[in-house]
Amino acid sequence: MNLYYQIKSGDDFLIKKTKDLIFKNYHKPKHTIAASILTKSGSIYSGINIRGCATSICAEKVALANAIMAKVDDYESLVVILYDKEIGYKILPPCGDCRQFLIDYIPDIFVIIENDNRLLKIQAKNLLINPYISNR
Ligand SMILES: [Zn+2]
Repeated sequence: MNLYYQIKSGDDFLIKKTKDLIFKNYHKPKHTIAASILTKSGSIYSGINIRGCATSICAEKVALANAIMAKVDDYESLVVILYDKEIGYKILPPCGDCRQFLIDYIPDIFVIIENDNRLLKIQAKNLLINPYISNR
């Protein structure tokens, strides 16, 4: 079973917008990661990470909260991008906690990942084996 999909032209635009976002908001170590969600209708909802001295919130969660507030119901793709002045841009896979959040809210969204120097997509529900399922 092949879990990977090819990226589409809209994903290239999503990646560019997300790079622009973290470049404009870069403030190491507080803000180094941006995440953006593309909808099937072409809208983009984004967020950056926020890091305090005791805890932090991932960019994916901020982007998801923005999409939820906008009542999005046609999720397509998600990308997470790190920017660092020394190493440049790097596409990151979501952390374990965010993988669970994605499964809780939008398990079918396609997450853009880098695999052997190639960009591919995999659905969020396939990023985490045996996720927690609440009975609520
Ligand atoms: Zn995370």
